Amino acid sequence: MRAINKIIIHCSATPEGRNDTVDDIWDWHVNGNGWSDIGYHYVIHLDGSVHEGRQEETRGAHTSGQNHDSIGICYVGGMNADMTAPKDTRTPEQKAALRELVHELLSRYPEASVHGHREYANKACPSFDVQAEAWDEGEGNRMDNTEAPDDPLERALHHAGEVGRALVELKRKASGSRPSK
Ligand SMILES: [Zn+2]
Repeated sequence: MRAINKIIIHCSATPEGRNDTVDDIWDWHVNGNGWSDIGYHYVIHLDGSVHEGRQEETRGAHTSGQNHDSIGICYVGGMNADMTAPKDTRTPEQKAALRELVHELLSRYPEASVHGHREYANKACPSFDVQAEAWDEGEGNRMDNTEAPDDPLERALHHAGEVGRALVELKRKASGSRPSK
């Protein structure tokens, strides 16, 4: 078995709402690029379904210099609808599936850390800040799995850890704003 030290997240750089599939990406990589197989180990469709690409035991082809000890995950999307700018287009189903998949991989590869492609290349991929999300938390602790709320206090609470949460609760009491859900 090869050592897995990194889980690297990608987007397919396809327009928001277009339901490209693992087979499409396989075709781009094999018939387009002339590769032996799809470059990613997992592809997540818009509906949140997770599809296997390359076997985990096999070195991927997704992040230059990092393929030997990593697993590559790609969600379909990552560009706005008219393809003029990178955009975090993950559907709620894709976010949940990505979180679940990463969590499952971390349970099997506890030494691994989670990264975005852009940490290793001058690219926007995967069009969101992987380090801003908590990947090692179980299903019962998913505070950051929702959109950031509009209310500043709610937003602070959303980003706060347990200590920060207590502080925000105190501030909320002092300011008399509505209690959290
Ligand atoms: Zn990428």
